Amino acid sequence: MPAWTLFGLLKGKATTAWPGRDAAGSEEYSGQDGLLGMPRFAPQHCGDGCRMCADACPTDAISVKNDSKGAERLSVDYGRCVVCQLCIEACPKGVARASSDWAFGARNRNDLQFLVGPGGVAGGEKKPTEPRDGFRRSLHIRHVDAGSCNGCESELQALNNPFYNLHRFGVFFTPSPRFADLLLVTGSVTYAMREPLLRTYEAMAEPRWVMACGACAVCGGIAEGGYACGHGLEGVLPVDLYLPGCPPNPAAIIEAVLMFLDRTRQRVKGGRLVE
Ligand code: SF4
Ligand code: SF4
Repeated sequence: MPAWTLFGLLKGKATTAWPGRDAAGSEEYSGQDGLLGMPRFAPQHCGDGCRMCADACPTDAISVKNDSKGAERLSVDYGRCVVCQLCIEACPKGVARASSDWAFGARNRNDLQFLVGPGGVAGGEKKPTEPRDGFRRSLHIRHVDAGSCNGCESELQALNNPFYNLHRFGVFFTPSPRFADLLLVTGSVTYAMREPLLRTYEAMAEPRWVMACGACAVCGGIAEGGYACGHGLEGVLPVDLYLPGCPPNPAAIIEAVLMFLDRTRQRVKGGRLVE
């Protein structure tokens, strides 16, 4: 008997019960204990004119904007956040704080924007233009690395390990765009990768959907506007599913895909997690 078979028999079931329930049977379990997620903000406690978090942010995810009454409002674009936690270190008042919020998959880009005050944006769920009923338990994904650092790929690879076991959801990766329903894009979409990416998209049968996976694909990430790329998928392909993070963890990817298939609800709205 091979050693790994013996190990498997001794170890027992390796796959997490999440997102169904945890080992104790609780449906509240997030499956991601101890994970560092997107920073959270309580801007009502900001000091006047303080921009320390915005100055520390390497991707300009934080900005200070004037609302309709001319008052300064902190604004956070979670689509740009690379979860570096520098804003938390920089904030002298504890307004920015660490969280374990990682489920930031959204159909609408506006839902990743957090803006306090009357001018706040609440995107709401974008209604799908194509029915996805027939895909709920049979989705095939074609992944294209459009200029990634391979951090996102490392997380994608984990989806097929025994712990996350993506196949149990009826979701599979396929090497051929001909068989793919969802084009999952990682990386900042470099100019060199645009044509191969567009050709892959064109090779997919309709209905076809596009997922921007990771801050780079959502907006260009840390390399945004550099000599080799623009703003991720923006203006390149129509995006149906946004998942920020750098990289998004495997559970976040599963959560986003299941949400896209209407098998779970979207948890982030207007930059806030809705419980
Ligand atoms: S954690 Fe996100 S918002 Fe905070 S500094 Fe880093 S990129 Fe900017
Ligand atoms: S989002 Fe982060 S991990 Fe993913 S490709 Fe970009 S830099 Fe790498």
